[in-house]
Amino acid sequence: MTALIGADELARADLEHLIHPLYHPEAQRDALIWDHGEGVWLWDINGNRYLDGLSCLWNVNVGHGRRELAEAAADQMARLAFVTNYAGATNVPAITLATRLLGLGYPNMRAVYFTTGGAESNEAAFKTARFYWKIAGQPNKVKVISRVHGYHGVTMAAASATGIPAYHKMFAPLVPNFVQVAPPHPYRWADYGGAGGDPGVEAADAVEAAIQREGPNSVAAVLAEPVMGAGGVIVPPDTYFPRLRQICDRYGVLLIADEIITGFGRTGRWFALDHWGVQPDMVSFAKGITSGYLPLGGILISGPIHEAIQSAPADLKYTHAATYSGHPTCCAVALRNLDILEQERLPEAAAEKGQRLLDGLQTLREHPNVGDVRGLGLMCGVELVEDRATRAPAVGLGVRVLAEARARGLFTRIRGGMRGDYPIGDTICLAPPLITPDDQLDRIVAILRDALRAATA
Ligand code: PMP
Repeated sequence: MTALIGADELARADLEHLIHPLYHPEAQRDALIWDHGEGVWLWDINGNRYLDGLSCLWNVNVGHGRRELAEAAADQMARLAFVTNYAGATNVPAITLATRLLGLGYPNMRAVYFTTGGAESNEAAFKTARFYWKIAGQPNKVKVISRVHGYHGVTMAAASATGIPAYHKMFAPLVPNFVQVAPPHPYRWADYGGAGGDPGVEAADAVEAAIQREGPNSVAAVLAEPVMGAGGVIVPPDTYFPRLRQICDRYGVLLIADEIITGFGRTGRWFALDHWGVQPDMVSFAKGITSGYLPLGGILISGPIHEAIQSAPADLKYTHAATYSGHPTCCAVALRNLDILEQERLPEAAAEKGQRLLDGLQTLREHPNVGDVRGLGLMCGVELVEDRATRAPAVGLGVRVLAEARARGLFTRIRGGMRGDYPIGDTICLAPPLITPDDQLDRIVAILRDALRAATA
């Protein structure tokens, strides 16, 4: 769509009338006004072209401009505007999608509840965990343990599970019964109280210590992103999740995988705990299920949790709801999106392309401000430091690198660094569409190399 009024006027109207996520007017002064996209490319309203280095917000996995997704939406909308999905009714796309998801996810998953986004999925997971324990006769199991640097959304409970202080500061007090522990960040494990052993083992044991401290009879679930995304693309050691699974089993605690970024092929597998042969009890998903073309999310639940919902007496029923749960248009688009992911073998592509991108990014270690380079599949991070020897986090450099990258035609985001008990440097996050051609992956690396040089000149 072309603008009805000029870019300057639009920018002014935006500043006057529109409050954005993570808003501050200063950050909005040179806002990009996006106009259209095709494949891995995005154009702003002034005709400037950018390589989409983050699939927008880690979600446009099949790339931009997929007409088949637009057609799937148009066909379904023309058929049915909306219908209630409340108990006593259902619709064909929602049933079909639920059935299909169970064939893709972990083998122990039995049912799906649909939401409209990530935070709402995590809220559903927290409430479903509480529901499960109440049916099981353990009504005091209500607490959720998550990790510092974890990101789970901004509704009150999801924000309370989020381990990034910036999201708490102006909205406290948080919801009680959410507890955070040290994350399995190998590069910084020594900074986070590591005792010198395997960071994966020690970080899993930190969760166990928290369960013991809080009291196993009060803990409902552990919530974890398989690879932390917005917190800085933190890839756990291979030992972490298998041990965490054992710990959850030992104490009777549910393991909830927040796969809102990692789901649907991003890391090279359909769902990411598969890398470590671990099955969670619930999965939160969103983003990639429609590749961002429409808002849709949900939770996958295991057999015992499904059984609790199915067997509850009417006066203890699962009184959780949302108008748009199982929206037929969103489900129809998700189904078509899954076709694309399967037909084009995009999870497999993510594994191969991710390795190429990561290998390329490793060459940035020649720059003195690059402290760590990490990734799994097409989910990579470059953590910046002031001093490589001390790992002192770079705080502020990332924004300058981002601006230089943008000037060179690469769009992405950073995780802003912080000092304190859990230091982390500004981290450049990369998660391009799963269809990104190899030459464009190499171009991301080349642009970042130049951007780093220019930002530190
Ligand atoms: N969990 C994770 C891991 C996420 O990355 C996000 C969004 N970036 C969310 C939850 C929240 O999703 P939403 O913004 O759709 O509420």
